[in-house]
Amino acid sequence: MARTGFYPGSFDPVTYGHLDIIARAARLVDKLVLGVGVHHGKQALIDAETRINLLENVIRPIAEHTGVKITVATFDGLAVDAARRHHAGLIIRGLRDASDFDYEVQMGQMNGAMAPDIETVFLAASPATRMIASSLVKQIAKMGGDITLFIPKEAQDVMAAALKRL
Ligand code: ADP
Repeated sequence: MARTGFYPGSFDPVTYGHLDIIARAARLVDKLVLGVGVHHGKQALIDAETRINLLENVIRPIAEHTGVKITVATFDGLAVDAARRHHAGLIIRGLRDASDFDYEVQMGQMNGAMAPDIETVFLAASPATRMIASSLVKQIAKMGGDITLFIPKEAQDVMAAALKRL
């Protein structure tokens, strides 16, 4: 049976850290669904449709290289409900540091209590991309800093357009 993974996040914007997790998760599953969170009350810099289009563009090389079908969908409720809707048996999360560990493991355990049939798999961030956080990329970009090391070119263009609109 095909194994499907669900990787939820804000992806506001997608970073090289996310792409590292996506490429590595693609080795574990036959199908990967990227869940773009569009929760009410969580104000994103980039609108959901643009985040989806951007993700679809930047994941294409990974999908072609690995042969894994990678799709993108929004979700606005519980990750376990969205994972189940997509017939995913795995939820993928990335761990950068101790604060990610504390938060992510607790959330994984609560998700596990709600949905024992869905396993959360934690991938430790790779050394080269471990420090990257979307929230810091946004702060740096707003202050005119160079974000080319942290996010792909397509995301830089989207960020520039979103910041212009602010
Ligand atoms: P959220 O709003 O859920 O934190 P993010 O898009 O920032 O959304 O993160 C989604 C997932 O990706 C989380 O599991 C987070 O730990 C992971 N992640 C984010 N940045 C990195 C990175 N640089 N390396 C590894 N994992 C990361």
